[in-house]
Amino acid sequence: MGDLNEGKHSEECGVFAIVGHPDASLICYYGLYALQHRGQESAGISVTQGNRIHTVKGTGLVSEVFTKEDVLGTVGNAALGHVRYSITGEGGIEDSQPITVKMWQGQMAFAHNGNLVNARTLRADLERSGSIFQTTSDCEVIPHLMARTEQSDPFKAFTSISHMIMGAYSLCILTPQGVIAAKDPNGFRPLCLGELDGAYIVCSETCALDAVGAEFIRELDPGETIFIPTPDSKNSRCSLNPRVISSCKNACRAHPSLCVFEFIYFARPDSDIYGVNVHAARKALGRRLAQKDECEVDLVTGVPDSSISAATGYAEEADIPYEMGLVKNRYIGRTFITPGQSVREIGVKIKLNPLKRVIAGNRVLMVDDSIVRGTTSKYIVNLFRAAGAKEVHVRITSPPYRFPCYYGIDTSSKGELIASNRSEEEIREAIGADSLRFLEVKDLEEILGEKVGTLCTACFTGQYPVPVVDMVKPGRIE
Ligand code: 5GP
Ligand code: SF4
Ligand code: MG
Repeated sequence: MGDLNEGKHSEECGVFAIVGHPDASLICYYGLYALQHRGQESAGISVTQGNRIHTVKGTGLVSEVFTKEDVLGTVGNAALGHVRYSITGEGGIEDSQPITVKMWQGQMAFAHNGNLVNARTLRADLERSGSIFQTTSDCEVIPHLMARTEQSDPFKAFTSISHMIMGAYSLCILTPQGVIAAKDPNGFRPLCLGELDGAYIVCSETCALDAVGAEFIRELDPGETIFIPTPDSKNSRCSLNPRVISSCKNACRAHPSLCVFEFIYFARPDSDIYGVNVHAARKALGRRLAQKDECEVDLVTGVPDSSISAATGYAEEADIPYEMGLVKNRYIGRTFITPGQSVREIGVKIKLNPLKRVIAGNRVLMVDDSIVRGTTSKYIVNLFRAAGAKEVHVRITSPPYRFPCYYGIDTSSKGELIASNRSEEEIREAIGADSLRFLEVKDLEEILGEKVGTLCTACFTGQYPVPVVDMVKPGRIE
């Protein structure tokens, strides 16, 4: 969530598509604002009136990328937007989405959230037989595969190749006839359907529906593909349901495994996933930490923003006062990053500042959502000590992060993960805390799994729900 972002190993994204609204471009723009936490590296919007697709994209925040003319000057009743979060310095503008292509089936724009685990293999095969790629994004194999089918209907072209793509994708395709939305058979990333004034929206999180005043209809099922035709396309008179022509369910391939980190860290607290509110889920995780703990401290505090919910849950359960221990500067936007360590530290300090009057002289318990490289925890423990804390205890609402993620979170090599070769005691020592506790996988399963079904927990267990075909460094194709 933007805290201490430099070199952060994230590759989350947000998608927002709307079909059948005269202000499609503007609503998409607002929707992207609500999904900004899922990606700050680049943003893009594609708009169509059923013929040509007009795309504007660039690096930076939504507020930096689009001008008023971009948003208000583009007429169209269907739009597709994307925000992307990547490692600093990799993947420039050509990798930002939507990716727009001209295929024999028509012009289309593609935007997705996730990572295809066999994209390298597919791409190598496609390149050998003549495909020329424009980007290094894993998503680009999809239009190439679709273009090789004999299906002139984009929906049929996609569903006929979807068995070939493996891994995590919550995908939207803007076509001249409407929007195709698809979730991989594991449903790693959220993707939900909503309605606004008779128009349909598909987006990564329900908070984006709230932001534009839309009604939530439902979360897409793992393995489901739907097609929403634009009102002027000939399919719009489908008898089943006026506009949503659902759906192709890959029921035989569905093995639900929602990314548990959507609840722990990525999603916004005001979003619901499969009916479970993210804030409530984080509070429950914080409570569980407290139930398993006896720690004599004067106050509990959370690392903004993602860990505030969990910290309040801990404080309530343990009956210890919750205090604001850190203030986060929300107006930073993108800081200019330089590689030098000292400059990096200044960048960090302008983002987070401890409340000295709260911390000084106290035994502090700090709740955070995860320890990946250990940089954040170590830094905050030091901040609290410098602010006069008597003791600093760290509690984490996830288990030690020991294995890289191949499904859309670029956690890089195993060597960078502080827990990959350290015991909990060694991690405690490395971050300089007086004590350190984690949740266990079974805690996550008990609290979340009961309501949302099986979860992906591979970064804790090493048990990958989809075999990782291209076992190289996760993320982009070089
Ligand atoms: P670390 O500093 O240990 O490498 O990363 C953990 C911290 O980074 C946590 O405070 C978490 O809120 C934040 N964070 C930012 N991006 C990510 C991400 O993609 N995954 C996880 N697990 N934490 C992240
Ligand atoms: Fe999420 Fe971890 Fe699974 Fe990646 S490996 S999808 S971060 S739970
Ligand atoms: Mg954090």
